[in-house]
Amino acid sequence: MAFSIRSLKIRQQILLVTLPPLVVLLCAIALLFYAYWMALHAGRGTRRSLESVAQGEQLLRHAAEMHLGVRGYVFTRDHAFLAPYEEAVAQIPAELANLRELESDSPSQSAEVDAIQRGLNRWQTEWANPTITSVNRGSLAESSQLVTEGERRLASVRTLMLTLLEEDRAENYAALRETEQQMRRMLGLALGVALMVALALAMVTREVAGLLEQPVRQLIEASERVSRGDFQPSLPPPADNEFGILSRSFSHMTNALRQEREELAALNRFSEAVPQCTSEVEVYDHILHSLKERFRPTQVMIFKLNPAENVLEAAATLVPLPEEVRDWPVIPEPHNCKAVRMGRRFRVNDVKAEPLLCPAKFVAPSEGSYYCGPLIAGGVIIGAVRVEGSKDFWTPERESLLESYLSGAATALSNLRLLESTKQQANVDELTGLYNRRFVEEYARKLIAMARRQGHPLGIIMMDLDHFKEVNDVYGHEVGDRVLRQFAKTVTRALREANVAARYGGEEFLVVLPETLPKGCLLVAERIRKAVERMVVPSGTDKPLPQLTVSLGIAVYPEHGQGLEELLQASDKALYESKRAGRNRTTLYVRQEEPAS
Ligand code: GH3
Ligand code: MG
Ligand code: MG
Repeated sequence: MAFSIRSLKIRQQILLVTLPPLVVLLCAIALLFYAYWMALHAGRGTRRSLESVAQGEQLLRHAAEMHLGVRGYVFTRDHAFLAPYEEAVAQIPAELANLRELESDSPSQSAEVDAIQRGLNRWQTEWANPTITSVNRGSLAESSQLVTEGERRLASVRTLMLTLLEEDRAENYAALRETEQQMRRMLGLALGVALMVALALAMVTREVAGLLEQPVRQLIEASERVSRGDFQPSLPPPADNEFGILSRSFSHMTNALRQEREELAALNRFSEAVPQCTSEVEVYDHILHSLKERFRPTQVMIFKLNPAENVLEAAATLVPLPEEVRDWPVIPEPHNCKAVRMGRRFRVNDVKAEPLLCPAKFVAPSEGSYYCGPLIAGGVIIGAVRVEGSKDFWTPERESLLESYLSGAATALSNLRLLESTKQQANVDELTGLYNRRFVEEYARKLIAMARRQGHPLGIIMMDLDHFKEVNDVYGHEVGDRVLRQFAKTVTRALREANVAARYGGEEFLVVLPETLPKGCLLVAERIRKAVERMVVPSGTDKPLPQLTVSLGIAVYPEHGQGLEELLQASDKALYESKRAGRNRTTLYVRQEEPAS
C-alpha cells in the first residue's frame, strides 16, 4: 500500500483535534488585541490631557510675561521689556490654536478656549496696545493708570485659564485612572489568555497523545512480544487511520510468521522422524500424514520407480484406490511420467482447463489442480509424488514447502534402500543370489525356536550336486559357476515363496521348510531333484554337459534333532546315504538305534 503524506488520515485527525483549541487560541489573541487597543486609547487620552495642561501652563506663563513686559515698559520706558511681550504676542495665536485642537473633543472646554482667546485679544487691543501707545506718547500718568486696569483685565483671563488648567488636570487624572484600569484589565486578560492558551495546548497535547500514544504503545508491546517468540500478541483494535492499517499489516505479518514457524516445526518433526523409519512403507505413511496435515489435499499418490521391471508402481495413496484399479496402478515405461522424465516438478492449476499430463490416467483427478514432482535422492530419481488439491491451490510458497518434504523423504528412502542393499549383500551369496550360510543358519535357528514355541514341525533339506568336480575339471570353472547359478534358479522355482534356499558351501545347498512334516519335505525334495534332472545348461563348447543330478538328505524337527546343529548333522548323514546309494536320490534321515550294550 502506498501513501502520500498528505493522504494520511492521522494527519487529518490531528488537524481536526487541533481545530477547537485553535479557535480558542484565536479568540484569546483577539481579546488581547482588544485590550491593547483599549489601553492604547486610554493612554492617548492621558497624553492629550497632559499636553493640554502643558499648553495651558505655557499660555499662562506667556500671558504673565506679556503683562510683565508691558508693565516694565511703563515703568522703565525701556524697549527691552517689550521683547518678551512681542514674542508672546507672536506665539499666543499658535498656542491657542494648539490648545483648541487639544480640547476639541470637549465643547465646553473649546468654548473656554474661545473665551480665553477673546479675553486675551481684548486685553491686548483694549489695554496692552493703548498702554504702549500712551507710554510712547509720554503720558506717564495715563499709562500708570492703565497698568492697574490691565492687571484687573488680565486677572479675569487668568482665572479662565486656571479654570481650564484645573479641568485639564482633572481630566488628566481621570484619563490616568482609566489607563490604569485598562492596564489592570489588560493584565487580567493577558493572564486569562495565557491560561486559555495553556488549556488549549494541554487539550491538543492530550488529544494528539491519545491519538498516537496508545496504538504506538500497543504496537511496541506487540512487537516486543513477537521478538520474544510469542506470535499471538493482542493488538490495538484496528482504527480508521494509518494505525489501523499498521495494526492489520502487523497481524498479517505475525500470522504469516506464526504459520511459517509452525510449518518449519512440522517440517523439522518430519525431517527428524523420517530417517528413523525402518521401512519404505513407514516413510510413505509419514509423507501421507504430513502432506495431509499441511496441505489438506484431496489425494496424494506416491509412485515408486522399479528399474528392474521398468515400471512406476503406486506405492502408497492417501485415499484408497477403487477396488478395480487397486492391483493395476502401475505406469509402464516410467519416462511417460513427465516428472520422472524431466527430473522436474510441474503443476496443473485446473485439470478441466489444461491437458492431463499424467500417464496414470485411470487414477487421475477429474477436477481441481495437481502437483507432480520427482523423488530425487543423490541425483537419482527413485519415484514421483502427485498431490491433488482444489483449483489453483499451488503457490510458489506451497510448492517450495512441499519440495522440502519430498526431498527429506527421498533422502530417507534412498538411505533405506542403501541399507537394504547392504544388508542384502551381507546375507546373499554373490554367485547365485541365494542367501548365504551365515544368514540361513541364523534364520533357521529363529524358525526352530518359533517351531518349538508353536509346536510346529520344520524340515531342512541338504543338497549336493553329483560329480560336480568333473564339470569343473572338464568344462572349466566358469561353466561350473554357470551350473551353480542355474541350479539356484531351479531350486528357487521349485519352492514356495515362504521357503528359503541358501548356498551352504561350495556346491552344497540348504532349504528350510517351516511347518512342514517329513512327507511334505520329501515332496519338495523330489520336486527339486526332478527339476534338476530336467535342467539344461549350455556348455559353451561342442560337447554338451552330461545330465546333472543332485543328491538330497532330509532331517525334520523335532524327530531328528532339537537344535540346528543336530538337524544339520542328520540331514548331512541322510545326504551321505543318498550318495552312497548311488546319487540322484532323496533320503529321509532315520535315527540309528544305539546298539544295545
Ligand atoms: P560327489 O558326487 O561325491 O559330490 O562328487 P563331487 O565331484 O561333487 O565331489 P565334491 O563334492 O567333493 O566336489 C566339490 C567340488 O565343487 C570341488 C570344487 O572344485 C567345486 N566347487 C566348490 N565351489 C565351487 C564354486 O564356487 N565354483 C565352481 N565352479 N566349483 C566349485
Ligand atoms: Mg560336495
Ligand atoms: Mg558333489
